[in-house]
Amino acid sequence: MKDTDCSELVTLRGRIDQVNRGILELLNERARLVLEVQAVKERNDISMFCPGRENEMLDSIVAGNKGPFSDAVIRQIFKEIFRASLESMQAAGIEHLKVSRAQGEQDVVIDVRGHLIGRDPVVIAGPCAIENAAQASEVARHLVSRKIHFMRGGAFKPRTSPYSFQGLGVEALGILDGIRTDFDMVVVTEVTDTRSVDAVAAAVDILQIGSRNMANYELLRAAGATGKPILLKRGFAATLDEFMLAAEYVSREGNENIILCERGIRTFARETRYTLDISAVPLLRQMSRLPVIVDVSHAAGRRDLVIPLAKAAMAAGASGVMVEVHPSPAHALSDSAQQIDLGEFDELIAALKR
Ligand code: PEP
Ligand code: MN
Repeated sequence: MKDTDCSELVTLRGRIDQVNRGILELLNERARLVLEVQAVKERNDISMFCPGRENEMLDSIVAGNKGPFSDAVIRQIFKEIFRASLESMQAAGIEHLKVSRAQGEQDVVIDVRGHLIGRDPVVIAGPCAIENAAQASEVARHLVSRKIHFMRGGAFKPRTSPYSFQGLGVEALGILDGIRTDFDMVVVTEVTDTRSVDAVAAAVDILQIGSRNMANYELLRAAGATGKPILLKRGFAATLDEFMLAAEYVSREGNENIILCERGIRTFARETRYTLDISAVPLLRQMSRLPVIVDVSHAAGRRDLVIPLAKAAMAAGASGVMVEVHPSPAHALSDSAQQIDLGEFDELIAALKR
């Protein structure tokens, strides 16, 4: 006999189909309630994290279990339901962020002394570290002559080894402040410590939060609270959700002037220092309203890749690039292999125009 000819089987299958539809409705009703819980928590500033609640629910479900499923199987099924709920809550959470695209269609455009980041493409160039006033001025003079208005330069250098050059610190802040006034440039430097936030904010126009500090939440809050534009680098092992949440820390301080910077992530590739995650550019543009730039120097750690990566970044929709430029890369005190010289910088600008 064919199974479709067995009326008893057909009836039972009909009942199973009905139960499936019932489970589906109940699952979605549960999911709607979970989203409501999230909204209530958000409105009342209650933590999303609720340890214990999941175990309490499991214990009470299992207490009412009459079989034929064993308690272990029931736990497994409900754990999967909880996991799916958490995922949908997290997805909705990202959409609810102040910095998320879902909160408005308008792109954030950051006005830094009349230069509009997010509208006009930017090139932020300059040495890895400010080494002395002459080196900084030589780069600044060259950039200005090429109509580049944004200069970077590290004062406090977060180095992997404590024995490497750590930056000139406060002395470099003075040099950067001088560049700002003498050359009328927008200057960017990294802030690595909450204790130096005010000094850095007084000396420069844009505060950079480095890759190693993307998840330093106190620093994000303190930098955000200055009201200065923040150039936020992606942690080299951070997911895009984590990157967005780091930006949200700044935004919660009432500071929406955030530039997201993709700077390469850690992978198994050995030819480059990091791997430029080019898909992060269009993805971040979809996820957020913030301008996205690409650091093409730290991403690869090699000067021969600067031009192709910069072209790729702009083609992928970036609002600009950051690049390390040094008058004499061979003598640089940090990141010697990736900095380009002034002539190579001119080649980069010409390549970006093509
Ligand atoms: C830098 O831009 O000087 C720097 C240290 O970059 P990152 O934080 O991306 O390593
Ligand atoms: Mn560097």
